[in-house]
Amino acid sequence: MKWWGWGLENVEFTHEDKPGLAPFAAEVLGLDVRDVTAAPIGFENLRIPDPRLPDSLRVALEDAVTEAFISVDPLDRVVHARGKSLRDLVLQRRGEFARVPDVVVRPASEDEVVAVLRAVVSADAVVIPFGGGSSISGSLEAPATETRPIVSVDLVRLDKVLEIDSSSRLARVQAGVFGPHLEEQLGAQGYTFGHFPDSFTHSTLGGWIATRSSGMQSDRYGDIADLTRGLRVVTPSGTLVTRPVPSTSTGPSVREMVLGSEGRLGIITEATVHVRRIPECRVILGYLFPTFADGVVAMRDVAASECSVSVTRVSDALETQFSFAMRIRPTLVGKLQSKALSIFLQHRLGYDLHQMCLSFIGYEGSERHVAEQRRAVGRIVKRHGGLCIGSGPGVLYDQKKFDIPYIRDFLLDRGAVGDVSETAMQWSRLSVVYDAVTAAAYGAIAELGVQGYVMCHLSHSYHAGACLYFTFAFRPTPGGDTVAEYDIVKSAIQQAFVDNGATLSHHHAVGTEHSRWLAQDISAPGVAMLEALFEGADPGKHLNPGKIL
Ligand SMILES: Cc1cc2nc3c(=O)[nH]c(=O)nc-3n(C[C@H](O)[C@H](O)[C@H](O)COP(=O)(O)OP(=O)(O)OC[C@H]3O[C@@H](n4cnc5c(N)ncnc54)[C@H](O)[C@@H]3O)c2cc1C
Repeated sequence: MKWWGWGLENVEFTHEDKPGLAPFAAEVLGLDVRDVTAAPIGFENLRIPDPRLPDSLRVALEDAVTEAFISVDPLDRVVHARGKSLRDLVLQRRGEFARVPDVVVRPASEDEVVAVLRAVVSADAVVIPFGGGSSISGSLEAPATETRPIVSVDLVRLDKVLEIDSSSRLARVQAGVFGPHLEEQLGAQGYTFGHFPDSFTHSTLGGWIATRSSGMQSDRYGDIADLTRGLRVVTPSGTLVTRPVPSTSTGPSVREMVLGSEGRLGIITEATVHVRRIPECRVILGYLFPTFADGVVAMRDVAASECSVSVTRVSDALETQFSFAMRIRPTLVGKLQSKALSIFLQHRLGYDLHQMCLSFIGYEGSERHVAEQRRAVGRIVKRHGGLCIGSGPGVLYDQKKFDIPYIRDFLLDRGAVGDVSETAMQWSRLSVVYDAVTAAAYGAIAELGVQGYVMCHLSHSYHAGACLYFTFAFRPTPGGDTVAEYDIVKSAIQQAFVDNGATLSHHHAVGTEHSRWLAQDISAPGVAMLEALFEGADPGKHLNPGKIL
């Protein structure tokens, strides 16, 4: 993982194979994508604070995991200093550090995790569990004022699928496994977990659980909160174990308390999770709708119907234009087809191409099941003026979805800021939230007097509502404070969420970025309960302090 950005060192996003992107960026941002104006500071120029690691703690950690798996290497410490929020990226690129972990340790078993935590508590140090480091809400950075030694516990060596109970369709899995390695191990036995967040390649099972993650196919598989049954968590008072039973009435759910705990209750070492047989057939179809409102209502009707789909996604008009701008250089046949389609949409269906919205709906199961679902969904889509455009766009989307995260670095290299905020809301008020957030974001951008845009898609559907996922970008004032300007736009969006009854985040967790809105979301007594929970589980405040509250 790059220490200053997303993904692998040798992979980056490019506009060169996407002829539509430069004109799009010029129109909505006034940005010339050929103009690379900013670069991260060189690693050799970073001023990394020296590690504060008392000898006694070092010896105890060495006893716990052996010397080979303790690192005070500057690059290792910098990689573990933060996650990948926009603020994290900007500060890492500038080389601005407050508290960097003093040491990174890599235990290989639950017993080693127990020994590490015991060493941390008896040295009155701080522990920050580290999965893939893909947190987008500031869940990994130590408080700037923290004076105690900081130990980053990287779970990367806990990466095995331990057992599959095929009769119950449950797998016992170690928490440090990354998405691709998990799917590889399950796939070898004919199973899938079905959890595919956009950060899949660089995030882990433990991180997903600790942030209440959601994957692209949640409509079929559920969110991580639905997929996780049993848990093993190393805490200061011993190892917490919840049984992988299908349901239970043992008072308030301890399993739910661990979900979304962001390392504040302990270190998750293992989970027993739902797995399913790899489906015989998997297809994502593209659809067009006359407007975003038509697309959203169609998704609502799909959710309310007897149809069973794996993905529901609709982009608003601007995001649709962005998606088209991201197309790889089209062939002559592709161009002719697009032209023919445009004519058909405008003249036969009466679409306004500027309002038109792109949608994806995914299907999984036996060939027969998929065929039946496609027909049933097709009838709903038609009722809302939609049109199926086949599997081509869906295949492209599926292939490219893990490349999109690189785009924030591409924009920062060109002096622009791009980020996301997402929420969930009941169907009955989804359009109110959409309108309010869009207005708030444009209001903030106007207040800054800069050029920018906001776009949105509906990304996960439920019985009662859906997730709205907003992407915003702008060009900060030349010479201005980029982070402060970012805060103005991001805060306007977050405030509009809670003011309109929506949640502060559907799947990016609270961290430090969103904690300001927690009381408005879950009420003051809710916050008091969380305070009591963290205080009771960790009276010495050794576990990832400052996150969520
Ligand atoms: C470009 C991009 C795209 C993203 N797309 C999605 C998406 O589609 N869906 C989604 O849900 N999220 C998404 N995220 C957010 C992020 O990937 C998730 O929050 C993810 O679940 C974090 O997993 P991780 O393994 O990287 O955890 P980390 O970032 O390493 O840690 C996150 C938090 O979990 C804690 N933690 C990690 N492992 C453990 C453990 N074993 N025990 C206890 N605590 C632990 C950490 O202390 C920290 O508080 C995205 C982020 C980025 C940057």
